[in-house]
Amino acid sequence: MNSMSDERTLLNTFHEIASHPRRQMDQYLSRGLKIVGCQAPYAPEEIVHAMGMVPMGLWGADMALSEAKRYFPTFICSIMQSMVELGIRGAYDGMSCILMPSLCDAMQATVENWKYAVPSIPIVYADYPQNRFGKAGHDYLRATHERQIARLTELTGATCTDEALRQSIEIYKEHAETMKAFSELAGKCGMKPSDRSAVFKSAWFMLKQEHTALVRELMAVMKPCGEKKIGVMTTGILADQPGLLQIMDKLNMTVLCDDVAHESRQSFFCYPKAETPLDTLADKFCTMKHCSLIYDPQKTRISLILEEARAHGAKGIIFIQTKFCDPEEFDYVFLKRACENAGIPLIMIEVDRQMTNYDQAGTALQTFCEMIQ
Ligand code: SF4
Repeated sequence: MNSMSDERTLLNTFHEIASHPRRQMDQYLSRGLKIVGCQAPYAPEEIVHAMGMVPMGLWGADMALSEAKRYFPTFICSIMQSMVELGIRGAYDGMSCILMPSLCDAMQATVENWKYAVPSIPIVYADYPQNRFGKAGHDYLRATHERQIARLTELTGATCTDEALRQSIEIYKEHAETMKAFSELAGKCGMKPSDRSAVFKSAWFMLKQEHTALVRELMAVMKPCGEKKIGVMTTGILADQPGLLQIMDKLNMTVLCDDVAHESRQSFFCYPKAETPLDTLADKFCTMKHCSLIYDPQKTRISLILEEARAHGAKGIIFIQTKFCDPEEFDYVFLKRACENAGIPLIMIEVDRQMTNYDQAGTALQTFCEMIQ
């Protein structure tokens, strides 16, 4: 097997994992491991990991909604609605519970609905502080994490020690660094957007140490694709829609860098040194910026996007707007103005978990490519 076929074989493995989370879940259950669903993007996975369980990311799925519509008005984002739909249909059966931090109105609305719609899977809900820069924010979140641990112990019997949490934080740190390096290399090699997305998406369904090892294996055999590509930056909550990715592949685009919550936004934080690992975890969230879901009066996300796009030589930015996601809609206004002032081409593409036809998005992206290449 030559190195290129090694690369393809590995990429196919990432695609398999990304498109079959249930298979992953069954595999972990058969190893005797307990699974905890972690509401993306900022459930404290490190705690679940330290308790010897498997954290699996909950981002809903592309599907037609029927049952969930009994619980939500139409203007709640389809990530939350499809997550409840999957819960009702039994896709998460076998999970010990789900962890849900509250960071937007849609998440808050989902908590009570989940209790009625999916009574078989307990929900561990937590309010996260938005005013989080002072000691009070830190102390509040630390106490919240303590309550989450206590509830997880009650539900699963698993316990969390400082040493185990310290080790899990190291594993998550290593994973974030590996994904940063992968993103750089994928841009340099001109990787297809659909392949890049599968590598990021699979991370949500694997133990992070296993994902890190697989990504490193891939990076060792990655080669430049040898074609001229149109390099872009993507931003938004989620960018895993197969219909959209196929269009980007066909238009010969490559993603040089991203600020997508499902992808690189997961590595925009640090783990500050603190007295205990639980303090480190609380500080991780309390020092986090650059995200539409958390209070950031300076809107540092906007300058970060511009800096990243410039540093990577992106010809344009694609803002992938999850329909009915208010936090992202608010940020779009700031980003549009900033891009106009900086002379960086920007396009907004609206996506939805129920979307099956991407023709309109395809036409808009084709025009965008003709303008920027
Ligand atoms: S942040 Fe946006 S996409 Fe995520 S749950 Fe809230 S409304 Fe939905």
